[in-house]
Amino acid sequence: MVGDDEYVPEPCILHPEPVTEHEYIGLLDPGLQERIYGWEDGQAEADDFEDAEPPRYQTDLSTAPGWKIGGYATWETSDPYEVVCDCGTPMNPLLTIASTEWEDETISWTPVEDRHLAEESEANTPTRVTVGRDGSLSIFTCPSNPTHAHQITLQ
Ligand SMILES: [Zn+2]
Repeated sequence: MVGDDEYVPEPCILHPEPVTEHEYIGLLDPGLQERIYGWEDGQAEADDFEDAEPPRYQTDLSTAPGWKIGGYATWETSDPYEVVCDCGTPMNPLLTIASTEWEDETISWTPVEDRHLAEESEANTPTRVTVGRDGSLSIFTCPSNPTHAHQITLQ
């Protein structure tokens, strides 16, 4: 039994695809962060994007929104912190359950086959699952021992 209907997914078809993510910018070396911000400034000054917004590291290249297995955790509502198991081992995200599959301000993570639906809000929430205040729930597991208790973050 589930205590809240918002946690019960609508039946839908899964089309998993591999994507490459990069660490959340706040967890990168400060020197690398500065280089990325410089690259973004250069993109904004270049007039190569006509009416489109130039890509930004955090929203377009770093952590993918939507449901995912593995990858990097997102830290949109809190400062990033290391999730550590009771045994002292840093934990890894196993599964992220997201309220939306992409964000309105960018389409870089929107599947190509769904881009024509990008403006339709229901297309962005195929499972109809809502976590927190339209956030994401990540389940972390211990890489040294899978029987150790999992932990969650809500962003
Ligand atoms: Zn552990």
